[in-house]
Amino acid sequence: MKRRIVALGVLLALAASPWLAAGELWHPVATLDDVARNYVLLVLRIDRHLPGFNDYYYGPPEWKQRVEAEEKIPLAELRREATELLASLDRVRGQPERLWWFRKQLLALDTNLRKLGGEQIPIREQALLLLDLEVTPPALDELDSALEEIDRLLPGEGPLRQRLQAWQAQFALREDQLPQAYEMALEVTREHAHELLLLPADEEVDLHFVQNQSWGAYNWFQGNAHSRIEVNTDLPASAVAIFDFAAHEAYPGHHTDLLTREQRLYRERGYLEWCVSPLFTPMNAMAEAVAQVGTELVLTPEEKLAWHRDVFFPALGIEGVDLEQWLALDHALETLRRARERVPFMLFDEGKSDEEVIAYLERYALLSEAGARKALEFNREWGAYTFNYTVGREILRRYLASGNARTKFVQLLTTPITPSLVEEWIRTGAEP
Ligand SMILES: [Zn+2]
Repeated sequence: MKRRIVALGVLLALAASPWLAAGELWHPVATLDDVARNYVLLVLRIDRHLPGFNDYYYGPPEWKQRVEAEEKIPLAELRREATELLASLDRVRGQPERLWWFRKQLLALDTNLRKLGGEQIPIREQALLLLDLEVTPPALDELDSALEEIDRLLPGEGPLRQRLQAWQAQFALREDQLPQAYEMALEVTREHAHELLLLPADEEVDLHFVQNQSWGAYNWFQGNAHSRIEVNTDLPASAVAIFDFAAHEAYPGHHTDLLTREQRLYRERGYLEWCVSPLFTPMNAMAEAVAQVGTELVLTPEEKLAWHRDVFFPALGIEGVDLEQWLALDHALETLRRARERVPFMLFDEGKSDEEVIAYLERYALLSEAGARKALEFNREWGAYTFNYTVGREILRRYLASGNARTKFVQLLTTPITPSLVEEWIRTGAEP
């Protein structure tokens, strides 16, 4: 009873706060749609403290204008709001997946607010609370066996990293080749993504080349089935990375994922929460994981190989590629990507120096010095986010492995999902 009185006190206090006084923006929570409305405002308000935290917005313009016009709401107030919304989930009804999703998203928002308040949270806990991911980075001897495989595939003299760089040199693209290469990759992935999903005829991707970013490429979703994709040209481009880029960022990755959710969840079902995208939350863990598995799904390995051999490499003047070796190395290097899972631990929990991290990435991820510096920069800025690409992907790979992967992939894009929810489906054999 005492607790209920306290809760009521909080509600009254909130109702009396000047930033919540605007009736059209604050609704007492009676339904899950009310939670959604308040959740959107909460995300926009957190973004005031950490610009860029919310990745896109295509909701009602007046909500955003309102939040931009108001005083910044103190972090403690925002935390109280997150906690209230979380508690309200016990009182409302709704689609079970949507309720699950809100629980995890709100927990993540609260954790982001704790971090903004200066709280130090160990990386493993951050992965769980922010991203809904249970993380166990690979042991060094697991990485050693992946390195041995690459060593076997690249016989010769000199250190392995140099042999790899020598092999990669045959795929280096000149800057003037980039537009053509990216357009070709977008075209073939678009065509196959249209076969996979019913994409609207007016969907559109704009491609831009930029510099001085910590990421390699970024999809700035604009709403109305439209994406602006930026490619960072700080590092030299490789012809064998372009297809994966196009699939990850656009077809059937981020662009396809976001426009499908916009259409099916936001517009058709009225799930307002999809008009915002807070970065360090389970929805983005799943967005990266979907983009990663989509890359593996959009073409069969045979189709991918044939397109590179017959269309892409000849158009770019790349000749004499040992295709078997390339496919095997591509696979081994993907496995080695897990080496990066150790980096957030080294940086944030263990206090390793930049030089130690760079030496580690050169040795275990076989990155060039420039590549290692870029990876370090990304990890400093994005922290636990790096787990989404590998740990998130593994969950979806396991989910798609039983049954028709293409049908199940479409289901993933039309259902609110978090990593633990998909784990639950795998465990119980349930379907969305
Ligand atoms: Zn991505």
